[in-house]
Amino acid sequence: MILILLPDTHPDNPEYKQLMTRLGSLPGISTRVHTEAGTEQVLTEVYLIGNTKALSFEDMQNLPCVDRVVRISEEYRILGRHKNDDRPTHFDYNGIRFGQDTLHIFAGLCAVDTPEHVEMMMKALRDHGQICTRMGAYKPRTSPYSFQGHGKTCLPYVFDLAGKYGIKVIAMEITHESHADEIREALHQTGNPTGVMLQIGTRNTQNFELLKIVGRQQEFPVLIKRGFGITLDESLNAAEYLASEGNRKIVFGLRGMKTSMADPHRNFVDFAHVPAVKRLTRMPVCIDPSHSVGARTRSPDGMLDIMQVTAQGVIAGANMVLVDFHPVPGKALVDGPQALLIKELPHFLEDIRIARAAYEQRSILSKNYLDE
Ligand code: PEP
Ligand code: MN
Repeated sequence: MILILLPDTHPDNPEYKQLMTRLGSLPGISTRVHTEAGTEQVLTEVYLIGNTKALSFEDMQNLPCVDRVVRISEEYRILGRHKNDDRPTHFDYNGIRFGQDTLHIFAGLCAVDTPEHVEMMMKALRDHGQICTRMGAYKPRTSPYSFQGHGKTCLPYVFDLAGKYGIKVIAMEITHESHADEIREALHQTGNPTGVMLQIGTRNTQNFELLKIVGRQQEFPVLIKRGFGITLDESLNAAEYLASEGNRKIVFGLRGMKTSMADPHRNFVDFAHVPAVKRLTRMPVCIDPSHSVGARTRSPDGMLDIMQVTAQGVIAGANMVLVDFHPVPGKALVDGPQALLIKELPHFLEDIRIARAAYEQRSILSKNYLDE
């Protein structure tokens, strides 16, 4: 059961103290408090853990400071959608709203290689009205002999260039807690010219200790990718680990599933799960067409498979697209074969615009038929 308190309820408020004393006296019930400082108000949620079935909804509703009560009816206590649950399905970061109703494109380099390539990419993004990007500095690789990313040495120029070209959020994978510290430090040293969304890659979806540490910080939002060989439920529980530690600024990423049945794609495209994740949880959903398809293959109608599956995800309501681009894919140090070319950026963006408009029309159509 969740007690959602009146906005701006302060812990020093005597009524809040009264509430906590009352809750503390309930047998077999423990509490966990989460506060979310938004731009306009502070929201407090009190999670009641234990045998809450015995508690009366009305009694809880009448406790001091309580605005409303949500009974946890489904899985994923914090991130799930429960009956009569009107908790938000969005969060704000660095002036950008990420929600189940918005769409942002994170086109960029799978792995940062040179400052020149970073600048070419960011300039193209700025020229096409984009304010987000992806830039990999820490790369988990299958072979220990492959390029592992430039790590912290590239961060200062990546952040400076982001500031120069008006990029507000960079999705960046981390594989160890020290990487978050290095990112924080580099942002500080460069004067916070941009923001970072920490990415948990598919290989680390169930790295529970990393999840707990990333979940404990609330400075950076998190993009958690679905594990490529586990069930959706297991991956959603992994996201719940982040939330249970305090961080609610979470985007869930679909990136295809590893199976030989995926051939000829690198991974089996799972974007049909976009609406399923939006129904089961309150998280915005990201799609990664690059790591799903893994190649620049083109169908007879002239469309690249990467653009086909992007449109499929967007028309199903995806809220974020994470996609690899490279100015010279032949020179990319990681995943060159799946990178789109900078000259393809306007085509890609226009294709997404068409798919998004179709999603919005379909959504209105469904609502009209439901209202009948
Ligand atoms: C990536 O986005 O660069 C990446 C490695 O993705 P994934 O974790 O989905 O393989
Ligand atoms: Mn990659």
